Amino acid sequence: MTAKPAAAAARSTVHGYPRQGPNRELKKAIEGYWKGRVSTAALEETARDLRRSNWQQLAEAGIHEVPTGDFSYYDHVLDTSVMVGALPSRHRAAVEADALAGYFAMARGTQDVAPLEMTKWFDTNYHYLVPELGPGTVFTADSTKQVTELKEALALGHTARPVLVGPITYLLLAKPAPGVAPGFDPLTLLDRLLPVYAEVLADLRAAGADWVQLDEPALVQDRTPAELNAAERAYRDLGTLTDRPKLLVASYFDRLGEALPVLAKAPVDGLALDFTDAAAANLDALAAVGGLPGKRLVAGVVNGRNIWINDFEKSLTILGTLLGLADRVDVASSCSLLHVPLDSSAERDIDPQIHRWLAFARQKTSEIVTLARGLGEGTDTIAAELAANRADLASRAGSALTRDPAVRARVAGVTDTDGRRSQPYAERAVAQRAHLGLPLLPTTTIGSFPQTTELRTARADLRRGRIDTAAYEERIKAEIQEVIAFQEKTGIDVLVHGEPERNDMVQYFAEQLTGYLATQHGWVQSYGTRYVRPPILAGDISRPEPMTVRWTSYAQSLTGRPVKGMLTGPVTMLAWSFVRDDQPLGDTARQVALALRDEVNDLENAGSSVIQVDEPALRETLPLRSADHADYLAWATESFRLATSGVRPDTQIHTHMCYAEFGDIVQAIDDLDADVISLEAARSHMQVARELAEHGYPREAGPGVYDIHSPRIPGVSEAADLLRKGLQAIPAERLWVNPDCGLKTRDWPETRASLENLVAAAREVRSEL
Ligand code: GLN
Ligand code: ZN
Repeated sequence: MTAKPAAAAARSTVHGYPRQGPNRELKKAIEGYWKGRVSTAALEETARDLRRSNWQQLAEAGIHEVPTGDFSYYDHVLDTSVMVGALPSRHRAAVEADALAGYFAMARGTQDVAPLEMTKWFDTNYHYLVPELGPGTVFTADSTKQVTELKEALALGHTARPVLVGPITYLLLAKPAPGVAPGFDPLTLLDRLLPVYAEVLADLRAAGADWVQLDEPALVQDRTPAELNAAERAYRDLGTLTDRPKLLVASYFDRLGEALPVLAKAPVDGLALDFTDAAAANLDALAAVGGLPGKRLVAGVVNGRNIWINDFEKSLTILGTLLGLADRVDVASSCSLLHVPLDSSAERDIDPQIHRWLAFARQKTSEIVTLARGLGEGTDTIAAELAANRADLASRAGSALTRDPAVRARVAGVTDTDGRRSQPYAERAVAQRAHLGLPLLPTTTIGSFPQTTELRTARADLRRGRIDTAAYEERIKAEIQEVIAFQEKTGIDVLVHGEPERNDMVQYFAEQLTGYLATQHGWVQSYGTRYVRPPILAGDISRPEPMTVRWTSYAQSLTGRPVKGMLTGPVTMLAWSFVRDDQPLGDTARQVALALRDEVNDLENAGSSVIQVDEPALRETLPLRSADHADYLAWATESFRLATSGVRPDTQIHTHMCYAEFGDIVQAIDDLDADVISLEAARSHMQVARELAEHGYPREAGPGVYDIHSPRIPGVSEAADLLRKGLQAIPAERLWVNPDCGLKTRDWPETRASLENLVAAAREVRSEL
């Protein structure tokens, strides 16, 4: 690992930084602006202050080149749509009248005008606003935001590099605008888009940009030859412009694969590549193309997606190898630090031992600087940091938290039989029918009922010591009584307790499992002004005691109808947390699965005949490269089965999925071996029912007939029509009636009316059978 000093001092940079500020100042200012309490000028000033302090933090830490333009009031893809003038026509007037108000209207919609669609940014939990393009799209350059932010940074004396979403990624992330034929391929607009990028690049150069970064993460996904050709053409065109800054093309989240030779040959001045474990193949691939002679390589060795300290020796080894492969090697984060919380030193409640293992954005920044120093000036200059890093890593590897012998022995002892129910589905279905005695087209809900202000207040009061546990629990019990009484009165067949005690479907369990950590200030942007605090899978996972049995049993004690036990599945627990980087994801999933298995078994023993294990994240966790899908699906489905296979044949296991289309993973859904699945389907007119049928899916299914994302109350005949459509694909013996998802974001009045209509629709359609 003795990296010899680089010819020139190695430099350091990051691709982007958390936008919110230490106390989520940006969120507060924007929401204040929406409510009319904060003026445009005041919001702009808050934003400018945050940018200034971010750059200052980076520069003071020793980062040589700070990013600009990565800041956003809402989303950087929406900013790119503004930059290239691709505004949906329905919003154009509003944007012209007031740019900022119009910007937020595109993001959030107004009473009369729909917003842009929002979807996940690759396999992160950040959501972007999907550009809407069509054959008639006319692009026009508006470099104002990029130029302004660059000038701000330059005026403050920083070396700055504007960061833009690249043209290929921009087009690949777009969708046909409403009214445009769905077959329209936005990539056909490339020739129209490139001159606009050229103009922005010229403007940035005129404003003083030496380098500009173009982000092309879409190139780490499987790409067709035509798409790779488009990338080649784009960077040939942009690279041969005369009036341009130096171009750095960045990729992250996975290996570049076939796109690597394309970009390596392009007449651009540098590439930024991800060299973390997930993209380790980049190293060999880079050597295979003969490196990047004459180019700058920005080496993403510090993981921008997890919260763990870096392994300095490992990174220095990689960096040492890279020195031989490019003209200049800079040290960087693997991607924008947007995906991690700001500062681990703000966490006061985390065990000091564990604290040493954590690196949020600020800590990652100093890791990058240290590595750059080690690379440029020799590892002796960072001897103290190396020793401390080695000690921290050793303390993690040797900790009882990360290595619990009992958990490891149990995982090692898992057999195939543990992951298999004692009878095949067809036989279980008969036993369950006899045991549960449900009507045809049974009605149920997905789990949560409205999380009212009173419930949230009660939880906050408990946290602040304003009420005691007994008072809080009385409040929860009262809510459960109400939820059960309502469902009985309405005539729902399989009831739920309503999840009033849960702050969040992952955090609730994380708080009760050993090895899982919650943060106090670990906010990460999910979309716009919505921030989440993902818990941390820090060590081996075990369940000290039952987590949900009390509440489910209490609910069951109030009614003769079956009450569904309600758990979050292993894949979703991982997907919405920060995962360990010191063992394969599948190992962590198996540990979580075994903890859940005990909970499932305890629920059964306490009298639950129906238990639901939610896996809404199964589809979204699918790896970016299809070559990696089989591995993922193998551990994902295995861990679900491990969690759910310990029950009797007549106990009915449900699962639930939403937030995605499922057509391409029906086989995996089947492999879960659940008895019943409920899925989001109302908005797509039961499309998923047809997809299940085409696949020959043999189990019971409840494609949702009530879109819970909207306050709209579905009418009886509307829900009945959807059910009839469902019956064309799924026979009556296997069709369930339920909403698309949980009701926690809804209010009681619409929940009541909607569920009454849903039961009436089920009765109407039953009478036709
Ligand atoms: N059981 C959960 C609920 O109803 C499921 C939530 C989800 O799928 N996102 O709230
Ligand atoms: Zn859902």
